[in-house]
Amino acid sequence: MNIAETIASARKIVIKIGSATLAKPDGKINIEFMENFAARCAAMNKSGKQLALVSSGAQVAGISTLDRWARKTDMNYRQALCAIGQVELMNEWGGAFRHCGLHIGQLLFTKEDFNDGRRALNMRNTLFTLLDEGVIPIINENDSVACDEIRIGDNDNLSALTAVLWNADLLILFSDIDGIYTDNPKTNPEAKLIEKVDNIAELREHITIGAANGFGTGGIATKIEAAEKTCAYGIPMILANGGHPEALDALSSGKLRGTLFLPAR
Ligand code: GLU
Repeated sequence: MNIAETIASARKIVIKIGSATLAKPDGKINIEFMENFAARCAAMNKSGKQLALVSSGAQVAGISTLDRWARKTDMNYRQALCAIGQVELMNEWGGAFRHCGLHIGQLLFTKEDFNDGRRALNMRNTLFTLLDEGVIPIINENDSVACDEIRIGDNDNLSALTAVLWNADLLILFSDIDGIYTDNPKTNPEAKLIEKVDNIAELREHITIGAANGFGTGGIATKIEAAEKTCAYGIPMILANGGHPEALDALSSGKLRGTLFLPAR
């Protein structure tokens, strides 16, 4: 199976969009991108697929709204900033999807929620209900509540947990990197894009993770962790560059390359 075939055969898809994809170079939220992206999602939705989005960007949207807090690093300010930014973010997503005739629902999770059986069941029921009724769930970590002990910490892992919770058929991580390379492509021109991974343990032995290959916001470590989580439950994962609003279409038609993680058979 290649990327295009994997998307074609998936009905329930979780898509994660990273902060770097949502923010413009000047740090403001890229509303045009969101509108375009929502239109692509709506088209996919119409074709019979169910989509859940995991959207980062609360912090970016917070700073973009209240830039005088940009340099505040205290935990209470950071959490307050996310409280402000989350509303802005959802306003923009709400508007973008409304243009396409779709409603959105907000879900904010922490690690504790996934670990608590009853809460996880409620989260699952809400997800299923929203999706079965044609509403697009937009998920983020509950950044204003989550402190170190209960934080997932990154939306790569959060989207993998969501994909498992919902029994999704596929997770797509849109990031600012094109996929997993044999080495850091920014410093090593010989680095090659790895287009298919069916053995993550083996992958770890063949690439340089960490400082040398830690490009992109969360680096690749959390992306590989996410793939481990979904593949363990038989859910493939695609890592691709979401920088272009048409990335979803390009990926579906095989025009955009990325890394496809396939569960071991
Ligand atoms: N939850 C964070 C935010 O919305 C993003 C975390 C991440 O990008 O991994 O700002």
